[in-house]
Amino acid sequence: MKSTATTLKPAPKTVASPSAKSPAASTSRWTTGIQPTYDKPSFASKRQKALQNADKVKLIQKSGKWSLVRTPDGKGWILSSKLVTNEARAKKLKTAPSKVTSKMTANTNNIIKRLKARYAPSISTVYGPRSGSIGHSSGLAADVMIKGYAKGSEIKAGDQMARYLTDNHEALGINYLIWRDQIWLSEDQQWGPYSKGGWGKHLEKSRGWNPTTRHMDHIHVETFRK
Ligand SMILES: [Zn+2]
Repeated sequence: MKSTATTLKPAPKTVASPSAKSPAASTSRWTTGIQPTYDKPSFASKRQKALQNADKVKLIQKSGKWSLVRTPDGKGWILSSKLVTNEARAKKLKTAPSKVTSKMTANTNNIIKRLKARYAPSISTVYGPRSGSIGHSSGLAADVMIKGYAKGSEIKAGDQMARYLTDNHEALGINYLIWRDQIWLSEDQQWGPYSKGGWGKHLEKSRGWNPTTRHMDHIHVETFRK
């Protein structure tokens, strides 16, 4: 009975022609977190302005792990892994937790300890958990304030700290860094413009651009790991 029954099954419903798919929803995508787009499907190509959290874009085509999307500024390539098809999910990712943790995560604390062991004379103070950003409220981020940040010698010390962090980003679990109006995103993406690259929109809106919001006086270090 069973073997004959299988031949009597109705044809699967999924053989409908492609035109039967719901039309509008299929090309809409939303960005997860703040993400830059590129002129070509390569980190080596020109970096465009960053898209903000949960920005809506239209998918034009895919190439390998990259997606070409239509943005408010035109067209650009973005890693497909940085897009979601669900607006609600993207918006959820956009919302910073309302609760601020009481202390830095163990990993971030460890990074600060290492920086202090090497560069203590150039660090005036370190700020950890606070409201206003997902990284800070979750304890994953720290602001390392550079003493006398306008002086050449201290800028150099900040540069050395930033270099130490990028050189060891894997071992330290670095997500991204901001220093002297530049943002470091990953080994592939390296440093790119911060305020002029479309980043920090929330800071520009709430406080305007100044040495602190442009991160001239501190390194923002944010990690992946708790
Ligand atoms: Zn910060």
